[in-house]
Amino acid sequence: MPIIKQIKCIRSRHRGTWLIVKVITDQPGLYGIGSASDHWHAETVLKAVERLSVSLIGRDVSNIEDNWQLVHTSCYWRNGSILNTALGGIDMALWDIKGKEAGMPVFRLLGGPCRSAVPVYGHAGGKDFEDLEDRVRQFIESGYQVVRCQVGPYGGGGFIEPKQARLPENAWTDRAVFDDEAYLDTIPKMFEHLRTNIGFGVKLTHDVHEHLKPQNAVILAKLLEPFRLFFVEDILPPEHIQWFRKIREQCTTPQAMGELFVNPNEWMPLVTERLIDFARVRVSKGAGITQCRKIAVLCEWFGIQTAWQEGADNDPVNQMAACHLDMASSSFGIQEENHFADAELDAFPGHAEIRGGYMYPNETPGLGIDIDEEKAVALMDSNAAGQPPRHEPDRRADGSIVRP
Ligand SMILES: [Mg+2]
Repeated sequence: MPIIKQIKCIRSRHRGTWLIVKVITDQPGLYGIGSASDHWHAETVLKAVERLSVSLIGRDVSNIEDNWQLVHTSCYWRNGSILNTALGGIDMALWDIKGKEAGMPVFRLLGGPCRSAVPVYGHAGGKDFEDLEDRVRQFIESGYQVVRCQVGPYGGGGFIEPKQARLPENAWTDRAVFDDEAYLDTIPKMFEHLRTNIGFGVKLTHDVHEHLKPQNAVILAKLLEPFRLFFVEDILPPEHIQWFRKIREQCTTPQAMGELFVNPNEWMPLVTERLIDFARVRVSKGAGITQCRKIAVLCEWFGIQTAWQEGADNDPVNQMAACHLDMASSSFGIQEENHFADAELDAFPGHAEIRGGYMYPNETPGLGIDIDEEKAVALMDSNAAGQPPRHEPDRRADGSIVRP
């Protein structure tokens, strides 16, 4: 049996925020790749992969479950976004290797396809309702059946310019401030506009990005009920998930949740009590294919669907891992889309293809995606990579920080 000989990390993209794990075996040419990207903590995850590698070098590459359990418990303290991401990257690479050994794509190893392609949802954003309507129509024309609708940035519709906001004399910000009431007023009007002008033929979603106070999350879910959304995403932060019971008591608006979850126990009450409708986590942040497959199976028994998270900071390897899970999971609901620059895709031959609202894997053994290390590294500007992105929080008028 091949053994793990080396685990290396390759940083890519402009700021080096993509971290690709490469697990190299003692068999000539046999290796696997996985995604351990973290937009905010690329260097920290890289160090975590190096630390976890100590326990894996020399182990049988084919014992994925045992290797996962070993790494998960190898540092005693476990879970958390950093360790999950590092483990997720390693885990994907092990599945990639297993597929190559078996001579079949990972989705066939996972039980085989239960759909011919993966429906994805598009991200429509507009500066106002009319602009957003145009974007939604463009997605419909190009084949999309589900479209996420935002006006402006996350929290858009809830921001008040400083001149109109009633700021204190010693205001902490000169940027627009977030106001729950403004958001509660705007977002239902946004969907009223879209439903009135486009109708109910297209399925629509919205991402609250945890901006609301929990009481107002309940109000928004109820106000959106007439517009029959496909789902509302992250209406609550992970700290307030007990409020999903209140939402369920009040309305039928479907709920998608989980991209900030870092511990399997966060899923359990929401799934087993059927308090959400879609489970969302980035496959790498969910500690890889091994654990996300278990989440998908848990969801299946309770009628919950998956909607693995993507997002602009994600990489083509994670996208491919999600695609394989989607292909083989009967609890699949929808897949978030992600688009990359041509030069970025060029560094990842075999990447997933998105056409007409569907994503397609390929039949190459393993994950079906590879990395051209030279091209991947060339995407990175080492000066920019040395300066991690700085977070500027959204604030309310009194200066208090808006989650997340
Ligand atoms: Mg979200």
